[in-house]
Amino acid sequence: MSKVYDVIIIGAGPAGLSAGLYAARAKMSTLILEKEKNGGQIVTTDEVANYPGSIHEATGPSLIARMVEQCNEFGAEIKKDGIVDLSLEGDIKTLTTESGEVYQTKAVVIATGASPRKIGCPGEKEFVGKGVSYCATCDGDFFTDLEIFAIGGGDTALEEAMFLTKFARKVTVVHRRDEFRAAKSIIEKAEKNEKVEFLMNSVVEEIKGDGIVTSIVFKNTVTGELTEVEADEDDGTFGIFVFVGYLPQTALFKDKVEMDATGYIPTDADMKTNIPGVFAAGDVRVKSLRQVVTATADGAIAAIQAEKYIDEKFH
Ligand code: NAP
Repeated sequence: MSKVYDVIIIGAGPAGLSAGLYAARAKMSTLILEKEKNGGQIVTTDEVANYPGSIHEATGPSLIARMVEQCNEFGAEIKKDGIVDLSLEGDIKTLTTESGEVYQTKAVVIATGASPRKIGCPGEKEFVGKGVSYCATCDGDFFTDLEIFAIGGGDTALEEAMFLTKFARKVTVVHRRDEFRAAKSIIEKAEKNEKVEFLMNSVVEEIKGDGIVTSIVFKNTVTGELTEVEADEDDGTFGIFVFVGYLPQTALFKDKVEMDATGYIPTDADMKTNIPGVFAAGDVRVKSLRQVVTATADGAIAAIQAEKYIDEKFH
């Protein structure tokens, strides 16, 4: 526990990797801790069409691989380890990890992102990986020539529904209201796709099966009527892809950093949280646009502000 890092970044998604790049390039000793796979949500995306300069062959995984390579090139360490406890008060912050390591650092960048929200209905948990999925890129292929229900009414639900038509015979978008939240341009594109159908004013009440999903029960949000849809006899099953938004990964920071009522961390324009030396970047932050381009911008700002903070505090 002797080394005191300049910056420890929690999370290796676009925000964390960008913070790592900028911190390492500023010659700060930099450690990025990631409890799962590098990349966060973007590695579940097949196409990254709206990150400037990222066209043609750009996929989520390829973009992240290049970001990781760039971090390594400038000397940022990246380790796979989850944090189980942390102390953020005081000039030197302490982070204890699952592997039993205790790290010390002058500044922390929280870049833990957000993860898919669950429907919360009976059967959902039980059938994850057996018909229920949160990632079209990862699991779409399993449903080649089968039917799929895509749950949600935002940009993700409609975009992923269209992507899933590459595999599925038919994709039915199920939304709880009669109006989509998604952008007009995305709705129009989905409406033109002959393999996409829509079931409005409906929520999933229950998912049933026997080892794999065999039926789904919908409740009409206007009439309250329940309808059970069973798998086509020849198919035996179908896919349920859930795209009902995201939840911030901030449980670890409860009572340690200020959060809003939904668990996102407010910052100022310099990515500063309410705790000196603690910054937040990317989807975990209160913000109006959660995209790779805004996450990487946040990460850069957080790293540069961490450098400024360390200069003023320790030199
Ligand atoms: P979102 O915009 O929060 O939409 C979530 C959808 O799920 C909403 O339609 C919501 O219904 C529905 N929902 C929430 N809880 C539900 C439940 N328990 N049961 C059934 N439905 C439920 O999430 P998102 O679509 O993942 O998008 C997240 C952010 O990423 C947005 O800012 C979006 O613009 C952005 N994004 C952008 C792009 C792009 O620019 N190409 C692509 C993907 C995502 P209500 O509408 O009734 O609330």
